[in-house]
Amino acid sequence: MTTDAPGSVTDWVSTGHLPGEEAVRELVAEAHRRFSPVQDCEVARYIPALAAANPGHFGLCVASTGGLLFEAGESTQPFSIQSLSKPFLFALLCQAIGEDVARARLGVNSTGLPFNSVLAVERSGEGLSNPMVNAGAIAATSLVPGDTAEAKWHFIEEGFSRFAGRQLQVDQAVYASEIASNRRNLGIATLLEEQQRIWFDPDAATDLYTRQCALSVTARDLALMAATLANGGCQPCSGERVIEPLICQHVLAVMVTAGLYETSGDWLYDTGLPGKSGVSGGMITVCPGKGGLATYSPPLDESGNSVRGQLTARFLSERLGLNLFASRPLAPF
Ligand code: GLU
Repeated sequence: MTTDAPGSVTDWVSTGHLPGEEAVRELVAEAHRRFSPVQDCEVARYIPALAAANPGHFGLCVASTGGLLFEAGESTQPFSIQSLSKPFLFALLCQAIGEDVARARLGVNSTGLPFNSVLAVERSGEGLSNPMVNAGAIAATSLVPGDTAEAKWHFIEEGFSRFAGRQLQVDQAVYASEIASNRRNLGIATLLEEQQRIWFDPDAATDLYTRQCALSVTARDLALMAATLANGGCQPCSGERVIEPLICQHVLAVMVTAGLYETSGDWLYDTGLPGKSGVSGGMITVCPGKGGLATYSPPLDESGNSVRGQLTARFLSERLGLNLFASRPLAPF
């Protein structure tokens, strides 16, 4: 038996296609019908502006790597990206400074702890964390190229917009609201400074992190951003290469470790896919080679993950045949 030379990612990719267009359209509509009535949970309240979200809003969008969109409900309702910014910031950072440097400085292991855990920073060896939780994301923001906050912001805004395929804007009301109630993240940044794990002024890095969390997106935007991660780093509609395929592959691995915070294991068990949630109610799921799913539904579970979003991802992972771990025996036994 011969094998290809190791090291060439293009020879070792996950392949396959989504089912036919009609089937995907029907399943997306079915997921929306099925999970719209779910109501036994609450929207995030710790950022005052998020408490005003409509708990009835439920939008979803599947974007194929070929750029086809399948949508239901409030898929064009704007909301702040929040923690869904983390994988995209990490991807852009790896592309800019090299993933070995990013990994050595930030760490990529699961914390097993809530998204804003101080203990995670203290407990991990040498202050390393994971770019999918706040400490790692604030440290990642501090490493973004640029000598000034404005230069760093330009890098972030421009990079996120390339993922979305359109110019994204900050929701100023959400930004102001979170800045006024941000003491915990400022504390995390101060702790990182003590451990020499932050590479820009801690207050300024926290401000930039907060601003990026307030970027306004829709489920449609996020589905295309997720589909870019499913498509070796190429935006399916603009055709632009946003990040290299190998970086894309590694970002998805890091999403698997901590994308849903302390419930990342349950998520992986249920969906078999990399995913990321945010406290505004957004959620993305990435199926390498096939496409991205994004949902928007503000009511959250106790870990800060959208309840309808998780139900939808699990349902569509099963029905669209997306689970990366699912297989059947080669021969019928
Ligand atoms: N901006 C939020 C925070 O840092 C993001 C948290 C999240 O979406 O999980 O508290």
